[in-house]
Amino acid sequence: MNRSTSEQWHERAKLSVPGGVSSPVRAFRAVGGHPVYFSSGAGAWVTDVDGNEYVDMVGSWGPMILGHAHPAVVDAVADVVRHSSSFGAPSSAETLLAEEIRARVPAVDRVRFVSSGTESVMTAVRLARAATGRDLIVKFAGCYHGHMDALLVQAGSGVATLGLPNSPGVTAGTAADTIVLPYNDQEAVERLFAEHGARIAAVFTEAIPANMGVVPPRHGFNEFLRDITARHGSLFVFDEVMTGFRVGRGGWWGETGMQAGWAPDLFTFGKVIGGGYPLAAVGGRAEVMDQLAPLGAVYQAGTLSGNPVAATAGLVTLQHCTDDVYRHLHASAAQVGRIVSEALSAAGVPHRLQSEGGLFSIFFGPDEVSDFSEAAKQDEAAFARFFNAMLDEGVSLPPSAYEAWFVSAAHGDRELDHIARAAATAARSAAS
Ligand code: PLP
Repeated sequence: MNRSTSEQWHERAKLSVPGGVSSPVRAFRAVGGHPVYFSSGAGAWVTDVDGNEYVDMVGSWGPMILGHAHPAVVDAVADVVRHSSSFGAPSSAETLLAEEIRARVPAVDRVRFVSSGTESVMTAVRLARAATGRDLIVKFAGCYHGHMDALLVQAGSGVATLGLPNSPGVTAGTAADTIVLPYNDQEAVERLFAEHGARIAAVFTEAIPANMGVVPPRHGFNEFLRDITARHGSLFVFDEVMTGFRVGRGGWWGETGMQAGWAPDLFTFGKVIGGGYPLAAVGGRAEVMDQLAPLGAVYQAGTLSGNPVAATAGLVTLQHCTDDVYRHLHASAAQVGRIVSEALSAAGVPHRLQSEGGLFSIFFGPDEVSDFSEAAKQDEAAFARFFNAMLDEGVSLPPSAYEAWFVSAAHGDRELDHIARAAATAARSAAS
């Protein structure tokens, strides 16, 4: 497959942009070669600048849940843009989107829009500290909550892909205010709260960790976190940037906690709620959220926050995420996982398919993975061979062994057949 035009663009980009990319995993460092430059997408397919076509399993890392260039989203966005892209004033679109989020996630009384998941988490950290008058933040190794200093310690996603445990530039003081625990380790959480409970502002967790590969929470783990934080007067912040409105109508919480009768204090959302545009949100209980300026003293702002283009794209995307779409997404995710797993088994490649709520990834190792230390044991070289062979066969996977794979509502039989053919070849490459 000729990808020389992509390569030329990457060489050119490297002169003007660090590593040639605006976000590190895109550089393909973990898989070798150079990134692919895409020029268009339609449904489940993307086309690169050399004219090659691929089934897209990245979906812009989650947002493109309806597939690329969904006509309803395109039309709605075009209509908004024709009348101006931004006013820096409140918009009816953001209120409609906030209402849609509240309807889907009834534990959310108020929503504040921002432009990225990182910003939503940053706002949640500040709110949690202000609401509790405490400094310490607890997170889990391998969970990724964006690139704000306080949560960039032992993080997942690109931080894990590039093997950077901690980023230079994060002050010792900031790192000291963040406590990192092994994921799924209830005893470690209990020990920490027994010793320092009165100093902990909040526990942050991904609803389903999916930035070290998909690592399902042990049964009851999230509810346990809710319970122990409540007992110690700390906030529980549920990061649904990845899972929100992807794994179900009301995100992971809507599928589980809502039925069980527990709720976090704050949620962070992103990806799907922007429909492919820069939009994210923090939401939660009114008494916490109303501490944000202008009602309260906790400052938070943004020039493009709640931007009408992004809010419209998000609203129309959510309106099309019906129960049928969620059923389809779950079924497609299960089928892709099964197809690839069968191909790897046939080629004798040790692997683990891990999934939860329609999110899935494949670890290239023999053992079940329940935390980051286990995720890090996988055979990254085997993944790289598999990745590159899939790319050559016309399937675009996330270029990292630590990322979830994404299906869209547009992935159907044709795409599944294509993936099955590609996986048979790629599995032999992984085995070689
Ligand atoms: N939280 C989670 C769970 C994420 O997966 C991500 C991004 O992948 C973020 C936060 C950060 O979002 P963004 O990349 O929009 O800053």
